[in-house]
Formats: sequence, structure tokens, C-alpha cells
Amino acid sequence: MLRLLRPKTDLRTLITLLAVASIVIALANSLYAAWRVQREILISNTLEANRVYAAKLAATTGQFFQQAQSQLAWTAGAIGARFDDDALLQTEVERLRQQTNSFNSVVIVDAGGWVRAISPESMMLKGVQLHTDSAREALSRRTALIGQPSISAANNLLVFVSRPVWSASGSYLGYVGGTIYLKRKSVLNELLLSQFYRDGTQLYVLDRENRVLYHQNGQLVGKKIAPLLPQSATSYASSGYQEINNEQSVPVLAGYARVPDSDWTIFVLKPTRITLAPLSNLLFQVIQRSLPLALLTLAAAWLLARLIAMPLWQLARKASQMDAQDAAIEINGIRSWYFESSQIKRALLSGIGLMQMKIGQLKSEVQTDPLTQLLNRRGLQAVLDYLATTRQPFAVLALDIDHFKRVNDTWGHDVGDRVIQRVAQQLKNCARQTDVACRSGGEEFLIILPGADHDTAMMMAERVRQATQRQTIEPVGEVTLSIGVSCWLAEREAIAHCFRRADEALYSAKRAGRNCVLAAALQEEAREPICDR
Ligand code: GH3
Ligand code: MG
Ligand code: MG
Repeated sequence: MLRLLRPKTDLRTLITLLAVASIVIALANSLYAAWRVQREILISNTLEANRVYAAKLAATTGQFFQQAQSQLAWTAGAIGARFDDDALLQTEVERLRQQTNSFNSVVIVDAGGWVRAISPESMMLKGVQLHTDSAREALSRRTALIGQPSISAANNLLVFVSRPVWSASGSYLGYVGGTIYLKRKSVLNELLLSQFYRDGTQLYVLDRENRVLYHQNGQLVGKKIAPLLPQSATSYASSGYQEINNEQSVPVLAGYARVPDSDWTIFVLKPTRITLAPLSNLLFQVIQRSLPLALLTLAAAWLLARLIAMPLWQLARKASQMDAQDAAIEINGIRSWYFESSQIKRALLSGIGLMQMKIGQLKSEVQTDPLTQLLNRRGLQAVLDYLATTRQPFAVLALDIDHFKRVNDTWGHDVGDRVIQRVAQQLKNCARQTDVACRSGGEEFLIILPGADHDTAMMMAERVRQATQRQTIEPVGEVTLSIGVSCWLAEREAIAHCFRRADEALYSAKRAGRNCVLAAALQEEAREPICDR
């Protein structure tokens, strides 16, 4: 009955669970922190690397244009004084195209827009008046220009770079210009193509109107795409970086830079997913490396939990058996190595001492029955008051000598008294130090067993019954007892109710044929008497 009230979890399990939970939470937390930090580092490093890369490409492209411009400037200077020498002009355009390798074609145009010399000659434009946008722009602006990329008559995407030609006297003679084909093989194309994009990185060169001037995927070149940056192309600084979506709406880490002296912008994009791919491997490695130590910590925590819980567990076990004969000795033997357990141990020991002392006191203080030296009813009441105040559960045995009237009738009252005395002595012999035996009247007795549960009480009753039956009392011979047993659970009922149930059990034992032990039922359950017939 007492067992039912015990909670199922013990301290050791709780401490172990706590340790496991804290280790798992700590591990998860550090994993998450490592993941966050690594993620931020990867993203910011990639953004910066892309920006630097875009800036480097922009600077190189800018240098290429400067170089092209200075080559044109040199030619413009060389032909300024002899602009009417067609042979010279033709030699210069050939030299420019073939020696410098910067241009796909080179042209010299006079102030009226007429082509004076062209290389390659196969273009058949010599003597033709040019009307393209870049030709008109070169004539009207009379300055060094990098024109807007345009589609040529032969369906080539090209950019036109030009330089004005001045006479010695300072009059405008025309211009010298070169075209660079963006789709075809050219120095500029090779410059950008030489970058190898293995890890998903994409390179875009866009003009002012977001037209693709260069991309690994040649299909895109010449096409207009949606702006990659939310702000307008002219508003950002010479270089920068940002997390954006590319033209396929894939999140990417973008670095970008303006090409000097032009409206071109170079974008270097790396998909965020590819950038963060090494993270999962990193996490796996972190777990792999921290697992041995975590397991070791767990084992240590488990051992420590055992060590901490052990004294408390032992004390708790002993607390439920405080009525045992050598409970004090056993409690004393428990190693309570830390403050709380040693305090509980002290409390238990002094509790046992107090209980034994109190019961001893009660036994001597109140009146005892003169015939048997057992407690009388008043003494019993004092013991019960003490148990009730300390709310200690106990068991009750109600005992009655069988057919006692016959003893009196057959052997006389004195022999009857002696029988009562011998039975009382037998009860004392069977009782433990903390048990209380009492003569409740005539040939009736009660034994109180503090702390005893139902099974212990039944065993004790049976022991008393057998011991009494075994002894021979001259001249009567065998004397037997009927015994009723009940338990008082401090929380559940009034003490009087428990005694009534013990009495009822006793009368049931009598009805069952005497010389037997019968337990009082808590519920209306069937009872089997322990009888010796
Ligand atoms: P049962 O088995 O049903 O208990 O039968 P019983 O004969 O024992 O019946 P009961 O308990 O009614 O009888 C008790 C008798 O005990 C009645 C009384 O004469 C006797 N008695 C009561 N007090 C004393 C006493 O102090 N000394 C002696 N010698 N006899 C007593
Ligand atoms: Mg009686
Ligand atoms: Mg009787």
C-alpha cells in the first residue's frame, strides 16, 4: 500500500537528464553560433572578393581602353601634318590594326564624314560617307571617345573608339577610329574570357542601358536584362558589393565596379547557395570533433550523478524502514559526503532516537497493567496521540485468547490469570523495540507496529499466533489466539476507524474458526484467513 504512493523518478535519473539536456543544449548552441559566424564570414569574404575581382577587371579593361586611345592618339599626331597623303593614311590604318592587335578594324575619316582609309580594305568603305551614331558623335564632339556599343551592319556587337585629328595650325581634319568586336575574338574579349569561372561565378559586363556586353553565355551578349542593382546605374560609387537576385531570380553575392572613362559596369556574381555549401561539411566536422568530448562529459556527468544521488537514495530507502531493528546502525553507515545528505542523515538519526525515546518514555510514564506489565488503555492512548501528531503510519493487531471462559471454568480464575500473563510475555518476546503491546481488557490485547506496512503486520501476527500455539501452559496445555490486522495510513482515515476494522477482522477470525489471522479489508475485497486447522 505504501509502495503505491512513491514517485517513480529518482534523483539520479533527474540529475543525469539535467546533465544530458545541458550538454545537448550547449552543443546545439555552439553549433548554431559556429554556423552563424562562419556563414557571415563566408558571405562577407565572398562579397569583398567579388568586389575586388570586379574592380580589378574594370581597371584592366579601363587600361585597355586607355592603351587603345593612346595608340589612336599617336596615329592622329602622325597623320595631322600629311592628311592628304592617302598612302600614308592607308599604311597607318594597316599598322594600327595589325601591329597593335587592339582593333578589329581601323578607319580614318575626314571632317565631312568621308572614309579616307580603312583596314581591312575588304570592308569596301573607302570613299563612303559614314552615318552611324558613333561616326556622327565623333564628328560633332571632336574629342577622344569610347562610343556606346552598337550592332554593326554585319550583325556584330561592337564598340567604337575614336580620336580627333588636328592640323598643325589647329584646324579639325577628321578622326581616326577603331572598332572592337565584343562577340568575336578580340583582345578585350580574351581579357575577360581568360578568367575561368569554375565555382558557379558569373561575370556580366553591362553598358549604361543594362545591355550585356560580355557574359560566359554568349547567347546573352547584346541582350538587355533587368537592372541587377536596385539603384540607378549612375548613382553608385566606383565599386561595391551587395546581396541581390540575378536575372534568373537566384540569390547571389554581387561585387561590381565601373570601368573608368566609360559607362560600363562589371558584375561578378556568385550564387549564395554555392558560397555556403562548405558550411554543412564544416558543421559535420565540428560535430565529429566535439562528439568524443561530449560523450566523455556525459559519462562523467552520469558518474557524478550516481555519486551525488547515492547517499540520498540510501537515506530515502532507510527512511521508509525506520522501524527496522538496526535502522540507526545502517543509516550511520551511509557515506553522506556533502552538506545536504549529511544534514538529512543527522535528521534521520535524531528522528529514530527521538521516536525510540518517546515510545520508551510513554511506556514508563503511563500506567501499566499490573497483571501483565503491558500498557493499559490509557498508555495506549498516549502512544496513539504521539503517532497521530507525528503522522506516522502504523499497523494494529487485535488479539483475543480463544475459548478463555473454558480455562476459567475448568482451572479456576488464578490459572486463567497465569495464562493471561504467559500470553502477554509471549507478545513482548515477539515485539520489536518500537512496537507497543497493550492489554486492552480481559483476555484481549492490541499491538501497535509503527511504520509497518500490511505485509509486515501480517507476518508479525502470524509469528505471534504460531509462537503462542507452540508454548504449553501447564496445566491448561495449548492456548491459541485469534488476530485481526489493519493498517492506519496517516492521510486516509481516523485512527478509531482503523481500530474498528481491526476488531471486525478479529471477530471475523473468530467466526472463521479461531486460531487464525485475518486482515481488515480496505475495500470490500475477499479475504482469506491464515488459519492452522
Ligand atoms: P472466544 O473464543 O469467543 O473469545 O471465547 P471466550 O471464552 O474467550 O469468550 P469471551 O472472550 O467472551 O470470554 C472472556 C472471559 O474472560 C470472560 C471473563 O470471565 C474472563 N476474564 C475477563 N477478565 C479476566 C481476568 O482478568 N482474569 C481471568 N481469569 N478471567 C478474566
Ligand atoms: Mg474476549
Ligand atoms: Mg476470548
